[in-house]
Amino acid sequence: AKDSGKNRYLFYDSNMHSELMRKSELEKRLRKAIDNGELKLVFQPQVELNEEKIVASEVLLRWISDEFGFVSPEEFIPLAEETGLIIPIGKWVLEQACLINKQWMDEGYAPKIVGVNVSVIQLKDENFLENLREILHETNLQPEYLELEITESVVMEELDETLKILNEIRFMGVNISLDDFGTGYSSLSYLKELPINKLKIDKSFIDKIQHDESSKEIVDGIIQLAHKIELTVLAEGVETKEQLDILKNMNCDKIQGYYFSKPISKEEFEKMC
Ligand code: C2E
Ligand code: CA
Ligand code: CA
Ligand code: CA
Repeated sequence: AKDSGKNRYLFYDSNMHSELMRKSELEKRLRKAIDNGELKLVFQPQVELNEEKIVASEVLLRWISDEFGFVSPEEFIPLAEETGLIIPIGKWVLEQACLINKQWMDEGYAPKIVGVNVSVIQLKDENFLENLREILHETNLQPEYLELEITESVVMEELDETLKILNEIRFMGVNISLDDFGTGYSSLSYLKELPINKLKIDKSFIDKIQHDESSKEIVDGIIQLAHKIELTVLAEGVETKEQLDILKNMNCDKIQGYYFSKPISKEEFEKMC
């Protein structure tokens, strides 16, 4: 018994060791990922439900590391946030997204909004607003074709601090959507004080609307209330026709999810447009 206890300890210890090794090696590699050309953007269509046409896309970051191969954003985004690397990386994503969207406009594609995820670390960086202004200026993208996705929990936890920044962003003409909505603690009455355009209802609710009456009621409630205060509502992670039909009946404005399309390359997205 004593031996196995010792082994167990050693086992955990070496596990922890290799986790830390992976993390520090990942960090080292992530630091060079932009310059090495290992980062790329994929685009997931957002579909308007009335006409079933693509009106926007969300940009999602992909890292194909020379050393590690595909690394999930669920792993490297938190690491980038912890290490501050999210600031240069986030700036790069924003630049690329604006550049590509402007290019699409110039090439004659029907104008679409591009949605970019912005981490709280990035949002609170003192240079954020200046960078944003500069990127819009340099790419010449009209601000109404850019949307920043900010997670609900972040906005609610530090309302005073974020409100000022969000107002500045809106003042520039850039759209704001509240991401992963429903997972934070927003009292719905707060929503109309926020300078936002859109709610993205979190996938966890959409997953359950087919089978769980209370999730369905929650989603319906969110949609009806959002419409009263003139917000657009998008359902995230729609995977089935059944979910789509339920959402249509509730008058949900837009959907995003595998049912319509996974995130795809720029070239594949162009073919759909
Ligand atoms: P998110 O912003 O909530 O993005 C939606 C995630 O759900 C994406 O995962 C997308 O591929 C996935 N998804 C969309 N539709 C479906 C569906 O129908 N079924 C399923 N199972 N999944 C679906 P992804 O690309 O792995 O990104 C994960 C998270 O990483 C994102 O969640 C976001 O928080 C973060 N992230 C990704 N790119 C960026 C970025 O450029 N900047 C920042 N700050 N965060 C990013
Ligand atoms: Ca998002
Ligand atoms: Ca989301
Ligand atoms: Ca999420």
